[in-house]
Amino acid sequence: MATSETNTPRGSTAALLVWGPIDTARLLESVANDAAGANVLFTGTTRGVTAGVLTNQITKRLVYEAHEPLACAVLTRLRDEAMAKHGLTACAIIHRLGEVAVGETSVAIATSAPHRREAFAAAEWLMERIKREVPIWKCEEGANGDRTWVHPDSGVHPDSGVHPDSGVHPDSESCSTPRPVLVDGFGRVHTDLRISVTDRCNLRCTYCMPLDVVFKPRKELLSYEEIVRVARVAAGLGIRSIRITGGEPLVRREVAELVRQLVGIPGIEEVSLTTNGLLLEEQAADLRHAGLHRLNVSLDALSEDLFERIARRQGLDRVLAGLAAAKAAGFQSIRINAVSIRGLTEGEIVPLARFCRREGFHLRFIEFMPLDGESSWSDGQVLSGREVRDILARHFGPLVPVVRADAGQPAIDYAYADHDIASVAADLGGQPAQAAGVGFIDPVTQPFCDRCDRLRLTADGQFRNCLFSTTEWDARQVLRTGGSDDDIARLLRDCVQLKRAAHGIGTPAFERPARAMYQIGG
Ligand code: SAM
Repeated sequence: MATSETNTPRGSTAALLVWGPIDTARLLESVANDAAGANVLFTGTTRGVTAGVLTNQITKRLVYEAHEPLACAVLTRLRDEAMAKHGLTACAIIHRLGEVAVGETSVAIATSAPHRREAFAAAEWLMERIKREVPIWKCEEGANGDRTWVHPDSGVHPDSGVHPDSGVHPDSESCSTPRPVLVDGFGRVHTDLRISVTDRCNLRCTYCMPLDVVFKPRKELLSYEEIVRVARVAAGLGIRSIRITGGEPLVRREVAELVRQLVGIPGIEEVSLTTNGLLLEEQAADLRHAGLHRLNVSLDALSEDLFERIARRQGLDRVLAGLAAAKAAGFQSIRINAVSIRGLTEGEIVPLARFCRREGFHLRFIEFMPLDGESSWSDGQVLSGREVRDILARHFGPLVPVVRADAGQPAIDYAYADHDIASVAADLGGQPAQAAGVGFIDPVTQPFCDRCDRLRLTADGQFRNCLFSTTEWDARQVLRTGGSDDDIARLLRDCVQLKRAAHGIGTPAFERPARAMYQIGG
């Protein structure tokens, strides 16, 4: 197992479909790398006058459609072929779907190579092959209202069911492994959905909710049936992991039943749950039997006094009993989440680490974010991951970075040098292991927006594309007014498409969201 921090090469991974404007500057930037002597950006734009098949027709409206998994698979294959054939150092392709205004970019290719000749040749080769091989059809609506479907090189209507060049039917077996399709304007692929099942909680943590909290009326919360329907649609669009959260998810009745249903959705590979642990002793075995893959338990302090100051309720002994029950129920790889707040939690860092090392829990420190219920967050209260790491290293000796397979996840994980590093890495990969590591989620000082793969569904049925999103997409309304699964899918795609590049904490443009953490789902 490698043990050094690395960055995944960004550009070499992208062959994507998007449903909004293509950010070509960002695409070009994504292929730039030290080994490249030339970076080439090729854009295909839509024309107002189409010659040839439509004989100088004036085009009023253009719409691109595709069988997305198949189109994505072919784009990816072409990208891989171009990399090998032309000796590229990176290559990224984005094709736009949906309505595209005349004059806008519908396809963009960025290549980089040691010499410009290869970079140019590859871009040209790719453009030709994309036109001929990728099953994306274009509907041109003329000024006279006529609508004509054309595959760029053949004029074959998609309803004929046959890809004009490859002879592959769009529904053929070749797309049995669908590619993720929730891709935003910056090329980020979304595979993770956080589902909040309630805004209610049995604690009142200062950093999360106000003391005089008012919860949503129950009828405004999605039913389990509605949640499962949304999750099924999301899985069809490439969501692979679901985390159940809240509020406190275990205060909602029969969460294990929801887990069971989510685990059974085709395409969902992992269902996990984040809890404060107070009700875990009673529910751990049911959750395990329901098929829950992974548990995160929030625990900021091991001293009863500080626990109560933060949570504004008692309950440390119940959390510890819950953790023991989770272990006894057979949960492996339990993670402990601890929020770090300057002037408050410093004294808990070493005791928490000692406890987790002894119990085999993976500890994660999270920087305090401006999502508290009383809007009293200030940047001075942010105890950075770096500072916590230094405290740990001073006490326990060196921490060794652990490279993880899932590059999208936000934590930077370490093993204690006196522990078996391979076991920690295996543990993070979901395999049972005895050795526990420590990780840092540093959204304030080390934002990970560029690799964020998360979407959220709030308990009251709103899609959000970021914890700090100031816009929401109302799935509940679609669900409760007879909307179809396609309507839900469209809403989710819209939500993804409008995701901003970064949350912007610390910048003048940063705007705190109206909702606090307990109303969003952490
Ligand atoms: N009640 C559950 C729990 O305690 O894990 C799930 C919901 S809670 C909102 C999810 C996570 O968000 C917890 O680990 C909590 O510590 C974290 N959290 C809440 N407010 C936060 C904030 N302002 N900054 C950083 N983390 C926060």
